[in-house]
Amino acid sequence: MFSLPSIKIGKILGFNIEINYTWFIIFLVILFQFTHILNAEISSFPISVLTGLITTLLFFSSLLFHELCHSYIARLNNLPIKKITLFIFGGVAEMAKEPATPAIEFKMAIAGPLSSFFLSAFFYGVFVLASFLNLGLVITVPSYYLALINLSLAIFNLLPGFPLDGGRLFRATLWFFLKDIKPATKVASLVGQGFAYLLIFVGFVSVIQGLVGGIWFILIGWFLNQAAQGSYQQVVLQRALSGIKVSEIMTKDILTIEPSITLDEMVNNYFLKHRFGRFPVVEGDNFLGVITIHDIKEVSREKWFTTNVGEVLQSSKKSFTISPDNDAIHALMQMAQEEIGHLLVINEKDKLVGLVTRTDIIRLIKVKTELGM
Ligand SMILES: [Zn+2]
Repeated sequence: MFSLPSIKIGKILGFNIEINYTWFIIFLVILFQFTHILNAEISSFPISVLTGLITTLLFFSSLLFHELCHSYIARLNNLPIKKITLFIFGGVAEMAKEPATPAIEFKMAIAGPLSSFFLSAFFYGVFVLASFLNLGLVITVPSYYLALINLSLAIFNLLPGFPLDGGRLFRATLWFFLKDIKPATKVASLVGQGFAYLLIFVGFVSVIQGLVGGIWFILIGWFLNQAAQGSYQQVVLQRALSGIKVSEIMTKDILTIEPSITLDEMVNNYFLKHRFGRFPVVEGDNFLGVITIHDIKEVSREKWFTTNVGEVLQSSKKSFTISPDNDAIHALMQMAQEEIGHLLVINEKDKLVGLVTRTDIIRLIKVKTELGM
């Protein structure tokens, strides 16, 4: 979902926690706002900054706690969570696949808002106790705001815009009654998009009226709209490709190259003749790697007659290959991640057995969706 890189910060309960670079922007914005609020109440700048920093960290810990609750319930129900990422719009726990039943999705989705309600009550308790014991503004002001923010988080996440938690609860309910995840996701995703457009509209109206904060609504609305569309597409893909192995859709007759031929032969007999951007190099039964036009361009033209393919071969064995026993959906995801159009299919004995292309998979999805399968 995020094209910008993230940094790993550690593991909690066995879940990998990552911070996306966009997170630092929001961290500074929140820190600035907390410090600003606190400075108005406490009126000592260094103490305000320090308290602001602690409050900001507690705020992000609250977000992390929310995502950890989702992830924990997911894992209890055999739904693996790839990682938890904090980014500019909050946190997200990335699932490796969709939940198996509406009940699991419901439990998993409700865990988040419940955890935020719990934190809100907790911080409100701290606020009441600290006020009662006269512990001072350094405790009462942050605990009050943290109670308020966690309450807002719980409520915002309960809104029915898929893929927000409320949207997931809505989808789980539809799924339960319709007994089919596809139409349930379609409706939830449309409602999610409608909700996203509403946010964008409210944002625009606010901006026109001079409220700069409206930009925030526009951005969140835009993000939710993308996410809602993406979620539906993912379900359609998963449905069309479920149970299909790479070995069933791969092309078995592929053109391979011997490592002993020269680059000049390679260019004339393969690149110019067949017009592919890359070829697998195979010696006997062994797959050695992939040669690309790019690799050849690295070698000066005079040397093309004397250099052979084996010498310039990139050891790109791992990234561009897939096992025939893998799922087709996995192949599609790998191609998207590596931004390539095809993968070489290599069996456990390191033998090249086929080629799977994005076009093959997309065609299959098209045929199956048109047939309503
Ligand atoms: Zn949530």
